[in-house]
Amino acid sequence: MLPFPRLDYEAPATLDAAMRLVAEPGAKLLAGGTDLLPSLKHGLFQPSVLVSTRRLTELRQLSRGTIGAGLSLREVSHVPWVNAEYPALAAACRTVATPTIQGMATLGGNLALDTRCVYYNQPEGWRKALGGCLKCEGTICHVAPRGTGCYAAHSADTVPALWLYGARVRVHGPTGERSVNVSAMYQADGRDSLFARGDIIASVELPPAPPAVVHRKLRLRAAIDYGQLLVAVSRDDEGYRAVISAVGPRPLAVAARTPADLVDAAHAAVQPLATHLTAVPWRKKMVRVEVARAAALLPS
Ligand SMILES: Cc1cc2nc3c(=O)[nH]c(=O)nc-3n(C[C@H](O)[C@H](O)[C@H](O)COP(=O)(O)OP(=O)(O)OC[C@H]3O[C@@H](n4cnc5c(N)ncnc54)[C@H](O)[C@@H]3O)c2cc1C
Ligand code: SF4
Repeated sequence: MLPFPRLDYEAPATLDAAMRLVAEPGAKLLAGGTDLLPSLKHGLFQPSVLVSTRRLTELRQLSRGTIGAGLSLREVSHVPWVNAEYPALAAACRTVATPTIQGMATLGGNLALDTRCVYYNQPEGWRKALGGCLKCEGTICHVAPRGTGCYAAHSADTVPALWLYGARVRVHGPTGERSVNVSAMYQADGRDSLFARGDIIASVELPPAPPAVVHRKLRLRAAIDYGQLLVAVSRDDEGYRAVISAVGPRPLAVAARTPADLVDAAHAAVQPLATHLTAVPWRKKMVRVEVARAAALLPS
């Protein structure tokens, strides 16, 4: 069994107090803990204090078009207007891990999920046997040894659908409040985060009159696994769009006039890397399959 590190714990009652605590060096925000706590056991981060969102009522707001970042994925997937108007978001919440984890995991935690790589998301001894890597403890990337960047994969199930719905996140931080488009949240390097220390996602805002969107996830075991490929496809008056994730540090977007052109554009754009256990050529081939399947599932 992996030991849990010793650290302090705070559960402030207001967003302002939480921001102040998270802005301190060594502090880390804790929501459902479903990703963060295993990562602490793996020694990926060494915070000295966890600041819980548990008591922050500001993160539990829910009104048409606004979802508090502290709501669990299960709660989001049961909201009637989400199911009626943003069904791909509800579907994406239901493909994260397992129903038990969906009950603890929050939407904000999903949006802020760290990138993943088979060489990084391992216990400390496993990683150190390879000398670590650029993202943690080391000096080379095992996926692209001549590169200087990190290609760990963005793997949050809800993001492709939120992107195509045109969702924005409301962020509260030491410099004030701001609204960020989900499509602008992710960086080209798997070590980077948009969020400065102290930033907290308060809510997700969904615009009215959304396009039709379908979410699909390719994984080895449908009962629990992260995606080998995450795909969302939409159709509106201008044509078809696809957002593909789990293939690099940030999701990729492509657009075309017809489903067949969309499939070709997605296949050409996506260059999976060896960040997963499965073979790169197979994941590349499955881009075509999954985009075509998603487009075929769009309501007529
Ligand atoms: C077995 C297993 C399988 C999983 N499978 C999947 C999967 O298939 N797909 C998937 O997407 N995820 C998966 N996860 C990861 C995780 O369950 C989800 O991503 C979940 O939504 C994370 O939310 P959380 O509230 O638990 O976040 P936490 O673990 O509490 O935090 C995750 C990160 O987000 C930050 N954070 C949390 N809330 C906020 C906020 N409001 N503002 C700013 N930063 C914040 C934290 O500081 C931390 O860096 C899996 C986890 C496990 C254990
Ligand atoms: S892509 Fe390279 S640097 Fe990034 S986590 Fe994987 S091995 Fe490490």
